[in-house]
Amino acid sequence: MKIDIITIFPRMFDQIFEESMIGRARKNGILDIKIHNLRDFSENKHRIVDDRPFGGGSGMVLKAEPVYKAVGYIKKVTKKLKSKIIFLSPQGKALNNKVAIDLSKEKHLIFICAHYEGVDERVMKLIDSEISIGDYVLTGGELPAMVVVDAIARFMPGVIKENESVEKDSFFNGLLDYPHYTRPRIFKKAKVPDVLLSGNHKEIEKWRKKQSFKNTLLKRPELFKNKNLTEEEIKLVKELKKEQKND
Ligand code: SAM
Repeated sequence: MKIDIITIFPRMFDQIFEESMIGRARKNGILDIKIHNLRDFSENKHRIVDDRPFGGGSGMVLKAEPVYKAVGYIKKVTKKLKSKIIFLSPQGKALNNKVAIDLSKEKHLIFICAHYEGVDERVMKLIDSEISIGDYVLTGGELPAMVVVDAIARFMPGVIKENESVEKDSFFNGLLDYPHYTRPRIFKKAKVPDVLLSGNHKEIEKWRKKQSFKNTLLKRPELFKNKNLTEEEIKLVKELKKEQKND
């Protein structure tokens, strides 16, 4: 997948996109990420890309012209590649697993990161989708862009070595993950559950499923509303609710 990011702080991406799985995916050619400095598209000799808001008020607004130019340049370079232009914005559609999975199937994404009060509203004509990473306001779109790219990348074949682990993570099947343990078997008197040491894979699977249901019931019970449960699973939820009451 090709990803182009338009920002006024290009260096913010250096570390995050060079390390770990994203760094490896770039080296392997799975992800081709380019960061563009919006100031390179300013016609102003001081490379200014913002201005005061019409109508008055505090803060500055990113100008439309350099953003249009940056997008135009990227589209020209990427030629016929079908691209989706995403504006990171607290007003956008909330990022979740489904949004990330859908975006992971695209061939080319262009992210626009704003700052200050945001971007001139006329830029919205260019945008295919606005994405928010939560109901709070950050200083800029760079961290949200990194979050979105990371969330997308996990669903791209070859990025995570053990593909299975993505499918077992929270939200993939609509519920939360089960607890994990590693060595030592006893840590500060707390023992690893016996079943995980039993070697009985069927029992381990059963335990993990129960723990996933238990975690969800305890931490995010509303997730069950969108989950189609089998009769056996409905029974399990009832049992767990009973256990919770007795605890
Ligand atoms: N005035 C804007 C508003 O209230 O909708 C907020 C501007 S914010 C200070 C500057 C920029 O940071 C935004 O335009 C957006 O690109 C980015 N940003 C801030 N919070 C975000 C969030 N929760 N999700 C995605 N992008 C965000």
